[in-house]
Amino acid sequence: MSGLAGKSVGELLSLYRDGAARPAEVIGDCLDTIDSRDQVAGAFLDVFRDEAIARAKELGKEDPGRLPLYGIPVAVKDNICTRGLPTTCASKMLGGYRPPYDATAVERLTAAGAIIIGKTNMDEFAMGSSNEYSAYGRVRNPWNEECTPGGSSGGSAAAVAAGMVPVALGSDTGGSIRQPASFCGVTGLKGTYGRVSRYGLVAFASSFDQIGPIASDAEGCALLMQALAGPDGKDATAIEEDCPDLLSGLDVGLAGLSFGIPEELAGWDLDPAVSSALDEVSRAVAGSGSVPETVTLPGMETSIACYYVIANAEASSNLARFDGVRYGMREDAGSLGSLYASTRTAGFGEEVKRRILLGTYVLSAGSYDAYYGKALSVREMIRKAYSDIFSRIDLLMMPSTPGPAFRLGEKLDDPVSMYLSDIFTTPANVAGLPAISIPAGLSAGGLPVGVQLVAASGREDVLLRGARGLEKLFRFRERFVPGGGDA
Ligand code: GLN
Repeated sequence: MSGLAGKSVGELLSLYRDGAARPAEVIGDCLDTIDSRDQVAGAFLDVFRDEAIARAKELGKEDPGRLPLYGIPVAVKDNICTRGLPTTCASKMLGGYRPPYDATAVERLTAAGAIIIGKTNMDEFAMGSSNEYSAYGRVRNPWNEECTPGGSSGGSAAAVAAGMVPVALGSDTGGSIRQPASFCGVTGLKGTYGRVSRYGLVAFASSFDQIGPIASDAEGCALLMQALAGPDGKDATAIEEDCPDLLSGLDVGLAGLSFGIPEELAGWDLDPAVSSALDEVSRAVAGSGSVPETVTLPGMETSIACYYVIANAEASSNLARFDGVRYGMREDAGSLGSLYASTRTAGFGEEVKRRILLGTYVLSAGSYDAYYGKALSVREMIRKAYSDIFSRIDLLMMPSTPGPAFRLGEKLDDPVSMYLSDIFTTPANVAGLPAISIPAGLSAGGLPVGVQLVAASGREDVLLRGARGLEKLFRFRERFVPGGGDA
């Protein structure tokens, strides 16, 4: 049966339960769709064809009702370790690297019945907002091939948007799940910091990094998150409490939820489609009986500066492990010092080098207090501002990005303007809060725009309930398809 690969996670699960589809058919359709669409899209770095077919056959012998993600194909961002299978972080530095273990996220999905179908393209070491910093080629946005899919989880978002897989894993350090989800017209969820174990996620900035799902709808994100979340003895920063039940209240609707909208947005130069998507959310919220409250959210710009100081500092230290001795590539040289230098010179791309230099600079003795120390204090102020807001409201709504996807190449010569596409996503990472981007409209040029919801720490249940309520009103998936405009 064709068209199975484009179904949502919830739709596939009910087809399985009704005996109307089998894992082997679904995997077959995903592989066919990847074969026909990925040559243009460039979303996958590796497809685990034989492994996925074998696992689908195995699962075919089991009872579909027993496993919560029975037979669900999942594409995995290439910075998440898959045992014995390539994990490159889209870097030459890790070309040929095959980790000896699975990330906890991969282990949990597999135990829940999911089938890992391959690894997706990304910005090198998850540093970027357009996927153009991959060492293995660009990804095209399924809505317009001249545009970027966003980044750094651009391959994951494009794979879902193009209907190659129902769901994919991304990682979000400063917006890398939500920004590409917004650019590609799909839904992307980042949990509370520590909700999903980081064990087996190649570290970029450890105090921000989170793994999360990108799916065609909020229900898919909820189903995946329920399987991914929870304490893990292998990650000391994983939250020790169990994740709240994300599924039983999912369809309760918007009634009773209180919403806030930052007044600072009024002065922002937003794309008209983003402003009208926000207006639509406000109307939907008002229709459910609660008037969105205007809240003061100081420091939206401060948050991005704070993020780029701390994230680069952590990156410079995390990436020190790629020294030509322990992992991946090695450039032979006369001495240990020149082995380090030549391996790192050849192995890292320009953007990664820029981050390492900036990060080393802000940590150096002469600059530490002025930059790193100050950014840590700003982080505390931002956390406090958010926690005050969430003592009064349930959900904060704001844009995911200032505008729709930009054109390939458009921001490559201007790293700062690339960094600014994260202006609305970094605050949730700085404050460690759960946030989701849902598709909410199309721009004049026919590109999707997303709206972001942010919730209090630990309240993914409230976040997903709000997102699900809104998506049922917007019916984005039924109304619009890539390349087709109004469906
Ligand atoms: N675009 C941001 C950066 O380049 C965020 C990256 C991410 O979330 N992995 O740092």
